[in-house]
Amino acid sequence: MAVSLQALIDRSVRNMGSGIHPVVKETAIEVIKRSYKEGIYVQMTSGYRSFAEQNKLYAKGRTAPGKIVTNARAGQSNHNYGLAVDYVLLSSDGKTAIWTVNSKWKRVAQIAKALGFAWGGDWRSFKDYPHLEMMGGLTLSQLQAGKRPVLVSKVNNTTPAIPKPTKKQSLKRSSSSGGRAIVRTIQSTLNKRYKLNIKVDGYQGPETYKALLKGFQSELDKQFHAGLVVDGIWGPKTRAAVVNVRKGAKGNITWILQAMLICKGYDVNGLDSIFGHGLEKAVRAFQKANGLSVNGVTGRVTWTRLFV
Ligand SMILES: [Zn+2]
Repeated sequence: MAVSLQALIDRSVRNMGSGIHPVVKETAIEVIKRSYKEGIYVQMTSGYRSFAEQNKLYAKGRTAPGKIVTNARAGQSNHNYGLAVDYVLLSSDGKTAIWTVNSKWKRVAQIAKALGFAWGGDWRSFKDYPHLEMMGGLTLSQLQAGKRPVLVSKVNNTTPAIPKPTKKQSLKRSSSSGGRAIVRTIQSTLNKRYKLNIKVDGYQGPETYKALLKGFQSELDKQFHAGLVVDGIWGPKTRAAVVNVRKGAKGNITWILQAMLICKGYDVNGLDSIFGHGLEKAVRAFQKANGLSVNGVTGRVTWTRLFV
């Protein structure tokens, strides 16, 4: 006998925890319902995670036994703010979890995206297929600074039909190690170039972002005599000193822009210090995702959103 819809919802509600944002919760339940109607049995495996739970998870495969399951420490996961859930497919009797990223899995992602979720399977540098999140246009650094999004439920919208598959849609299963390697390169370059001493571990966190800002301040100082204190803090002086960076630019400031976007999960098509088409596309995507005016030029507002 097929598992009941109510059972899937009940288990998911339990797994999402009480700290889950109400709009995220309502939307996740809607994803389960719409998938069920199409004969896809999906369940949420997690949602809100406290900082303590996140740290415990981070320790797994590092200081605690098991395999590494996350790159995020406390405060670095959108789960810590109740804005993310993870899903899994179930066998029709509801007893077996199915982790294969097949057409059903992708259909669930599509249903979720139509309802306002962003899907981790779309990320370029680190694919997280079970992950769905609603950031309301905020970045993780803004969440860390205490900002919270205003989320609007789209539960009453309808789902678009299943699109005809095209060849391009075949999913590449890229490993996360590629993403970690480039972050390691960024970290060691920052250390060398700006005489810093941050951990080269491939995990972009507050320390890496601060180092990138220090690098940015050093460059503004060196190239434009901005007279900044290189402290890794985004203050009014730094904000006033920023320069517009656009297609055709090259050099260390372009490199910092590329590194910053890579750390935030964008595909900039190479960390080569040259502002080409790929970087412009990434800047546009970042601007769009953050509700900024989309022009592909990194000016004061975009730099601020990147660093704050
Ligand atoms: Zn997740």
